[in-house]
This record gives sequence, structure tokens and C-alpha cells, in this order.
Amino acid sequence: MSDETEPVSTVKTGGKLPQKARRHRLLILMVSMSLLAAVFISMTISTRKMTHDALYVHQEVTESRLRSLTFANQLMDASDSLTAQLWRFGATGEVSYGFSFLDRLNEGHFPREDLDELYTPEGLFGDELYYLKQAKQISNQLMEKELWALRLLFEAEGVETLPPEVASVQLSHKEQVASKAEKERLARSYIFGDQYARRKTELKQSIRSFQESQRNMIRMEQMQSDGKGERYLDLNMMMGILIISWLLILQIAMYLLLIRPVSHYSETLLQQSEEGKDYAPLDLQGSHEMKNLGLAFNNVLTQLQEAKVLLQRQNEELTVLSKTDHLTKVLNRLAMENYMETLLEEYRGTDWPIGIIMLDLDHFKSFNDAYGHPAGDDALRHVADILSSLVDQKGGLISRMGGEEFFILLPGQGEVEVGLLADELLVAVRETKIVVGPSTKKNLTVSIGSYVYRGGNETLKMLYTYADKALYAAKKQGRNRHVTYASLQEKGKSDRT
Ligand code: GH3
Ligand code: MG
Ligand code: MG
Repeated sequence: MSDETEPVSTVKTGGKLPQKARRHRLLILMVSMSLLAAVFISMTISTRKMTHDALYVHQEVTESRLRSLTFANQLMDASDSLTAQLWRFGATGEVSYGFSFLDRLNEGHFPREDLDELYTPEGLFGDELYYLKQAKQISNQLMEKELWALRLLFEAEGVETLPPEVASVQLSHKEQVASKAEKERLARSYIFGDQYARRKTELKQSIRSFQESQRNMIRMEQMQSDGKGERYLDLNMMMGILIISWLLILQIAMYLLLIRPVSHYSETLLQQSEEGKDYAPLDLQGSHEMKNLGLAFNNVLTQLQEAKVLLQRQNEELTVLSKTDHLTKVLNRLAMENYMETLLEEYRGTDWPIGIIMLDLDHFKSFNDAYGHPAGDDALRHVADILSSLVDQKGGLISRMGGEEFFILLPGQGEVEVGLLADELLVAVRETKIVVGPSTKKNLTVSIGSYVYRGGNETLKMLYTYADKALYAAKKQGRNRHVTYASLQEKGKSDRT
């Protein structure tokens, strides 16, 4: 398509779309920034919470550990203190030591609380808990036997009313019926015997093992917890960086695959429409889908442009057809009259001449009658060819007025030139042999009337009349000749004088 042609469609938007596109880009940027900020804030909060939780747990474990240590120490002290009272009672037979044993037991020196209360759900005790449980178990067994020995000693010393803790101790039948001396001997042999001492040693060992394992655990945890907060922070930072990178990649991908091609397409089309030129195919960009979109647009564009070219060609052909006489292919009457009107307007008032010739075939009716209408058509075409080649040479314009009558326009040519051309036309037609049958040729003649316009006030109709009058005169004078309107006027004048 050429540059002069109108574009398929022109939408003048005054560059509003690029502004809109910029607004969208800004919006996307703001949303992404808010997302990044949200990720960063939630990351910070969660790090703080995790650190706080870790500290809280650590504090609980520490408290629990302190309680259990106190518990173990109490266990040890109480055991030593109770044993001391029992040994004194056994050695001296002084009943007050027995009561003092019970006093100490009831004063709370001996820890009775449940071990589970010392234990935290974090399960950080491990070996500690095992040894502590063992110590508690041994101490319970010891206490049971101590109360048994205490009862035997009380009974051996003849205490009438036994304190409830002691009274509740079960004695075997043999022990019940034993003598006081025997009871004292049984109790003493236990409290000063190897078994009791061994159990006491076992208790102490368990408590020491507990203390040892607790120290180990604390050391180990200290080492672990040193980097814990930082580890949480590292983990969160890593997650945050991953999310931020992912968002950035997503945004870049969105920009490259969607936003950039869309704005490229729209900006290219807008620019082309504003320049008023034909649309050029889009440069395909972005994702597969966006490229397809551009391709689809280019296909539509190609189809539109092909349709436009076809339409233009058809228009041109129609224009030619509307101006042409279909039989002789010279101009038709309407085209000639339109042209003459503009020409008259242009030259009115100047002394620039316009030669006019009205030409008619002689006795053409009898030609038709003699050789048939188709032969007449051929003859008309033949004569039109001869006339138009001569008129073209002179820079004139020829049209068929209808039937076997032609009109010739000679801009810028006066009487002399018109006369010369008219003679040439007469001779050319006259000397042409028209084929009318397999071996028959025929000559035709024409009659010509002419007029020269010189910028006067005449209308088109008047020009016709003058030329027609001259033509009529030529017919009347015997045909095959040229008569000018001027000569008729001369003759009129001389006739009057
Ligand atoms: P004159 O010398 O006085 O002009 O005689 P003429 O017979 O040429 O004039 P007339 O007006 O009596 O007849 C014109 C004839 O031209 C009538 C018609 O048969 C013929 N004619 C007009 N148009 C056509 C055409 O398109 N084809 C053919 N074959 N003949 C045509
Ligand atoms: Mg005629
Ligand atoms: Mg005629």
C-alpha cells in the first residue's frame, strides 16, 4: 500500500493509554512493595516470637532443674539426718531420739512431693530424671525400713502409745510375738548392718549421678542454646530471602512476558495511529500467548490491507468504467461534460481558446441497414480508434455523445488548429476501408461542425448548439465536410446586408 492512502482505522486517543499503562505499572510496583514489606514484617515478628518462645522454654527448664536439684539435696540431707536420729536411738535406747526422728520426718525435711511436678513437658531431663527417680525410690524403701526399725525400738523400750506413722507399720507374726530384747536386736542389726549401709551408699551414688548428669546436660544445652536464636534468625532470613526472590522473579517474569509486550503493542499501535500512517506488523514479544496475540493481529492486519488494496483497485476500475463509453472505449458524455464544466469555469474571462468539434457519421443508418447492426458496431469502434489516435496527437480529448456522434475538445487551440485537425479527421475516415464482409470493404465519411470558445459567457448548452448548428450545415451542404460556426455567422451577416 502507498503512503498516500488512508489508514484502515484511526483512533485518536491523545496518548491517554500510555499514561494509563504507567499508572498500572505504578500500581503493580506498589502492590509488590507492600507484599515485600508484609513478608519482612511477618518475618521479624516470627523471629522475635521464636526467640521469645525459646527463652521462655529455657527459663522453665532452668526453674524445673533448680527445683529438682533442691529436691535431691533435701533427699540427701533428710536421709542423713533421719539415720543419725535412728542410730542414736539404737545406740542409747533414748526414746526422745525416736520422736526427734518423727519430728524431722514431719517437719518437711523429707521431700514428699510427686516427682512429676518437677518434670517439664519439654523433656529435657533424660538421665537426670532417671537418677533422681532411682534416688527417690531407694529413699522410700529406706524410710519404710527405718519406720519398721523405729517401731521395733519403740516397742523394745516399752512405749505404750505408738505415734501413728509408727503404728501403721506392719510387723510379721514372728516380730509381733518376739521379746523386747529380740525386737531391739532385730532393729539394731538392721540399722547398724551392712544392708542398711549399702542402701545408704546407693542412695548417695544415685544422687551424685543425678547431679553429675544434670551438670552435663546444662553444659550441653548451654552449647546448643548459644546459637539457637541465631539459627532461628538465619532460618527466617533464608525463608524471607527466598520469598522475596520468588516475588521478584515473578514480577520480572510478569513484566517480561505480559506487561512489556502489552505496552509495546499498544504504544506501537497508538504511535502509528497518531502519525496517520498505515499500520505496520507488530514486532512479536513476550509469552507464547502474547506472541500469538501479536500474530493474530498481524494476520488480521494483512487481511485488512489485502481487502483495502482490492477495494482500491475495484474503485479505480469503477471510476474508469464510469467515465468510459463501453462500445468505443473513448470518454462518455457525462465525463466529457463534467470536464468541460470545470474547464469553462477556469477559462472564463481569459482569451485562451478552447476548440470544439461535433462529428457525425454520414448515412450510418443505411450502413446499418445494409450490413447489419454488429457490422455497424465494428465500424463505430474502428472510426472511434482512428479519431482518438489523431485527437490524442493534438493533445485533445474525444467522447462519444451517443449513437454515431462524437464530441472533441481541443484546449488552447484556435480556428487554425481546429481547421487542420478537422481536415485530417475527414481524410483519415474517408480513406479507411471498413471490412463489412468476407471480401467486402466499405468507406465511411463524417461531417464536422466546429466552434472556438474564447473566454466568453457561453454556457455548455450554447456551445453544443453552436457546434451542432455548424454540423447541421455540413450535413446540409452535402456531408463529408467541415463547417465552422464562424462561417455560418459570416454568411448570416452577408445575407442580411
Ligand atoms: P446522417 O448522415 O444524416 O447522419 O444520416 P444517418 O443515417 O447517419 O442519421 P440517422 O440519425 O438517421 O441515423 C443514425 C443511425 O445510427 C441510426 C442507427 O441505426 C445508427 N446507430 C446509432 N447508434 C448506433 C450503435 O450504437 N450501433 C450501430 N450499429 N448503429 C447505431
Ligand atoms: Mg449520421
Ligand atoms: Mg446522428
